Amino acid sequence: MSAKLMVGTELAAEMVARAGERAKKLVEETGVQPCLATVLVGDDPASATYVRMKQNRSKKAGIGSRSVVLPAATTTEELVAEIEKLSADPAVHGILLQHPVPAQIDERAAFEAIAPGKDVDGVTMHGFAAMAFGEPGFVSCTPGGILRLLQAYDVPLEGAHAVVIGRSPILGKPAGMLLLASNATVTYTHSKTRDLADIVRTADIVVAAVGRANFVRGDWLKPGAVVIDAGYNEGNVGDVHFEEAAEVAGLITPVPGGVGPMTIALLLEQTVEAAEALTRAVSETVAHQLDHLS
Ligand code: NAP
Repeated sequence: MSAKLMVGTELAAEMVARAGERAKKLVEETGVQPCLATVLVGDDPASATYVRMKQNRSKKAGIGSRSVVLPAATTTEELVAEIEKLSADPAVHGILLQHPVPAQIDERAAFEAIAPGKDVDGVTMHGFAAMAFGEPGFVSCTPGGILRLLQAYDVPLEGAHAVVIGRSPILGKPAGMLLLASNATVTYTHSKTRDLADIVRTADIVVAAVGRANFVRGDWLKPGAVVIDAGYNEGNVGDVHFEEAAEVAGLITPVPGGVGPMTIALLLEQTVEAAEALTRAVSETVAHQLDHLS
């Protein structure tokens, strides 16, 4: 193996520790404990594991959690109503709807029921638009985590050619937009792309977000390329053939221990940020009302 590893675990632990310090400070100063609500629909064991993992990490960082578990037969209307309740609840600061939801549910409608100020997973149209326009807001956690990882390893982004494989609204598409905002030249590829391997061979940075185990092969890569494997497939296998790619790449993320921990770290960081912002907004409103009365 000639590539250097881009490890997310330690960086993520530092981010979680910093989020924990901010959470503690908020409790000390205002009595408000940041709270992340997770919504799980159905009984998919992998989704249940992801939600548990997020709740455990929240707890370790001093972030409270609220768990909503709904049966697999839940309708869109029922799910939207639950999410609207959380959106209106002042004790909840971040809302995470675990993806995927059962097929009968209109996932977009459910995501859009999340109040923008609580969209700490960056899944709403508001969050996406804010990111695309470069306005303040919460970014989708996996793409945001990828950017943090690239920055931490001092990967030059300006002028670099980044090839993103995958264009899902929560991963590929926002990952490309964040790279573009960092002045990379971005090529999106997807299931209809012709000559994919040839395009990937021109990349300084490859982001694999496909959902197919060992999909990107070593001979698709330019020597020295930076390879970000966002994939997570059964048996802890990424979307990149790690052994082959590590012989050619300059930097590569492992699976697990690369992008995954960064995603959770950013979720917690954004939950604390949401709690700070919502608490600030409440105290400003109260101060304004008192001003008005006096
Ligand atoms: P998704 O919604 O299924 O999207 C997959 C994308 O890959 C689609 O845009 C699809 O193209 C493209 N694709 C499929 N087959 C292809 C092919 N043969 N050639 C080129 N492109 C192809 O998946 P996702 O939610 O983005 O997730 C992608 C991977 O990331 C999965 O392994 C998932 O488990 C992982 N993931 C990891 C994290 C984390 O925290 N680490 C978070 C989320 C997801 P079309 O648009 O043309 O269909």
